[in-house]
Amino acid sequence: MYSSVPASYDVVVIGAGTGGYVAAIRASQLGKKVAVVEKQKSLGGTCLIWGCIPTKALLEHAHALKIVQNSDEWGIALPYGAPALDMQRIHARKDKIVSGLTRGVEFLFKKNKIDWIKGTAALAGKGRVDVVEGDKQTLQAAEIIIATGSSPRGIPGIEIDHTRIITSDEAIHLTDIPKSLVILGSGAVGVEFASIYRRFGSDVTIIELLPRLVPVEDEAVSAELEKTFRKQGIQSLTNTRVTKAVGTASGVDIEAEGPDGKSHKLKADILLVATGRGPVTSGLGVESLGIALDKGYIKVDSLCRTSVPNISAIGDVIAIEGRVHPQLAHVSSAEGILVAERLAGKDVRPLNYDHVPGCTYCDPEIGSVGLTEAAAKKQGYDVRVGSFPFGILGRAKMAGETDGFVKIVADKQYDEVLGVHMIGPRSTELVAEAALALRLECTVEELIKTIHAHPTFSEAIGEASHAVHGAAIHM
Ligand SMILES: Cc1cc2nc3c(=O)[nH]c(=O)nc-3n(C[C@H](O)[C@H](O)[C@H](O)COP(=O)(O)OP(=O)(O)OC[C@H]3O[C@@H](n4cnc5c(N)ncnc54)[C@H](O)[C@@H]3O)c2cc1C
Repeated sequence: MYSSVPASYDVVVIGAGTGGYVAAIRASQLGKKVAVVEKQKSLGGTCLIWGCIPTKALLEHAHALKIVQNSDEWGIALPYGAPALDMQRIHARKDKIVSGLTRGVEFLFKKNKIDWIKGTAALAGKGRVDVVEGDKQTLQAAEIIIATGSSPRGIPGIEIDHTRIITSDEAIHLTDIPKSLVILGSGAVGVEFASIYRRFGSDVTIIELLPRLVPVEDEAVSAELEKTFRKQGIQSLTNTRVTKAVGTASGVDIEAEGPDGKSHKLKADILLVATGRGPVTSGLGVESLGIALDKGYIKVDSLCRTSVPNISAIGDVIAIEGRVHPQLAHVSSAEGILVAERLAGKDVRPLNYDHVPGCTYCDPEIGSVGLTEAAAKKQGYDVRVGSFPFGILGRAKMAGETDGFVKIVADKQYDEVLGVHMIGPRSTELVAEAALALRLECTVEELIKTIHAHPTFSEAIGEASHAVHGAAIHM
């Protein structure tokens, strides 16, 4: 389209998020000549620019504030009175972390001799990718990997004006802390922002359509989160449907239908819509090439092949038949590696999506992997469970983080660990042991025999496994 002799590559990746950039690096490591087309000014996609990294940076600030606010308990005197937030400096620190990491990806591209083509890509058929905005040109590719990710999705009837009614893209940049914040949706994004802004001083209300917060988690985890949120002053309205939201000069007028079927009115400075994310395929040309879609997502098989030969797709933009595809950074990266290795002729196996750890960095944190108790029962397992509260652990007492527990779901017949669900301090780190346990088809007995160091938070996993066998030591 733009040049008579298109630049030619073994692999062209569209999108440099955690799926695309990891796929590119792995393909290059395996000897492929690789280009990545990315339309943003920096590399790293949602995770690095608007998602995982900036939100977790803000959560670390919230945690630091929590320690300072509890200075009495720690025996630290604050001679100048109550702590105050400096949002300019908070954002400056967060932005520095983000830019350090995005530049790190740029460095890795140079190191691996990957060409970053700055612009917007469109599929043009027969192995061609047109860069239609930015560095306009045509690329020829033996293989194409679509890794265009996702963007915030609203709900019908609620217009996102990006000022009063916002998405996570704006919530990470707020320089004025809202007096009141209503959050629509209690998935990971919703509850993380609830923790950030409640700690920063906002009155926070979460509205969830389903009967409980974090509905994908084990029911016990949802109940514990609701309880600790209540203690922190976060209001949870479950079984509640927002029917109308209108941004005004001074805030947002919200109407919601509660479990009683009656309409309730709420007012807030800001409404954050955190109801999920949809695929980014607009202008990409997937329809004209006949790539099969499922509700707008690119349909792939278990090795991330689309319906069109030599075109693969990974990450948030894909749908896998017969199951919910988790929109997580580590899943997109694992798919990127899988595709790069498949294209290099390696013997690859489908990912086990049942063993993907999920982390939610609200306060208290949630980490989980495998079947919930309800899901295990539904699948016909004879289930037995064991739980151990963090509050009993010396390490948790020292940290002043005593809410929450570890719960292990196991199969009675073979003693296999089916799922591990935790809410409490460092759960997003502790879940790594649980993910390995599931990968190795570990029994509860093997977890019991695994020596957990003292004093650590990980002792809660050891104790919960003892509890499955009815014999926790410290309870
Ligand atoms: C607030 C928030 C917090 C999150 N926290 C976590 C977390 O803690 N842990 C976790 O695992 N996940 C988290 N996620 C999810 C995670 O960010 C995504 O799952 C992950 O980024 C998906 O990676 P991806 O490569 O599929 O897509 P993306 O990261 O969305 O990258 C897609 C890239 O493609 C580019 N692109 C799109 N179309 C084109 C085109 N036509 N031409 C050129 N470039 C194009 C985009 O600019 C973008 O850079 C979070 C998400 C959000 C919103």
